[in-house]
Amino acid sequence: MLPEFELVQPENLNEATDILLDLGEKACLLAGGTDVFTAMREKGFEPEVLVDLKTIKELRGIGPAGDHRVSIGATTNLREVETSNLVREVCPVLAETVGKIGSIQVRNRGTIGGNLGNGSPAADSAVALLILDAEVELESSAGRRTVPIESFFIGPGETAIKRGEILRRVFVNAIKPATSAVFLKYGPRQAMDCAIVSVAVALTFDPSGGCQRARVALGAVAPTPIRARQTEALLMGGEITQERLEKALEAARAEARPISDIRASAGYRSHLVEVLVKRAVKKAVDQHGAAMNRSR
Ligand SMILES: Cc1cc2nc3c(=O)[nH]c(=O)nc-3n(C[C@H](O)[C@H](O)[C@H](O)COP(=O)(O)OP(=O)(O)OC[C@H]3O[C@@H](n4cnc5c(N)ncnc54)[C@H](O)[C@@H]3O)c2cc1C
Repeated sequence: MLPEFELVQPENLNEATDILLDLGEKACLLAGGTDVFTAMREKGFEPEVLVDLKTIKELRGIGPAGDHRVSIGATTNLREVETSNLVREVCPVLAETVGKIGSIQVRNRGTIGGNLGNGSPAADSAVALLILDAEVELESSAGRRTVPIESFFIGPGETAIKRGEILRRVFVNAIKPATSAVFLKYGPRQAMDCAIVSVAVALTFDPSGGCQRARVALGAVAPTPIRARQTEALLMGGEITQERLEKALEAARAEARPISDIRASAGYRSHLVEVLVKRAVKKAVDQHGAAMNRSR
């Protein structure tokens, strides 16, 4: 049974931010409810008032945002992100990643803003957004601000969203030319399961096949989703030889700070970081090689 709550359905963003200002701590934002209702049903979470964001048009939809960026409204559901032609064209790794969340039913209900707003270290979209240098736009009655995705996550269940703020849109950069990006996730089941470890890698290659730029992000192995910057530095600067890869994998293992919990031990998670980073890098290199062969 769900505990009792009041539901308010603002018609626009101004009304919603005014309601948040009035209600203060009593209010909890509601998008698809796949996390909120689970917490209310199973974790003793008892918000007095749920502020439904799904009624606000300006929070929905996907479109070009100029400067090779795509804008995704916070209440756009995950299935829309997964199937969007624009997202598939300019940042296919995001569509692919989001397509691995839960099930089609969960993705039809859950939103991108909810996946980020929940502040889970295992949020799948976060890992892909980290390698795409995404930004989130937050709005309150005091105004609007933009936060780089890397500064957005603060701790488990904690984000940069302050009381009174609503996540309005996510801005995602198009994949750069000559870049290959991969998302891999390991969980005990192929679907309906949060990651035990997730990894996203984007590698940009120079004309001789050397790695010019690297982005590596890890999920579920630290208090927040993280960029593995030392791993990135070791992958950059030339051909990814076996020796270079081995050093990068050691760094990835060191950058992860996993805990043991009911789903996996810290040791197993560390092992999986190495396995998944290795697979993701190899897949990115192979994909780039195949693309080069096709263009010859
Ligand atoms: C069966 C099942 C399987 C799942 N599998 C996965 C999985 O594989 N990978 C994964 O990453 N997640 C998974 N999830 C978690 C969940 O579905 C996602 O996190 C989803 O994207 C949450 O979106 P929502 O719209 O339902 O969020 P809600 O439950 O509505 O909200 C989640 C949190 O975000 C806040 N919030 C929502 N929108 C905003 C906004 N615009 N501004 C500020 N705060 C906001 C809410 O107040 C709340 O704290 C699963 C959940 C279920 C039930």
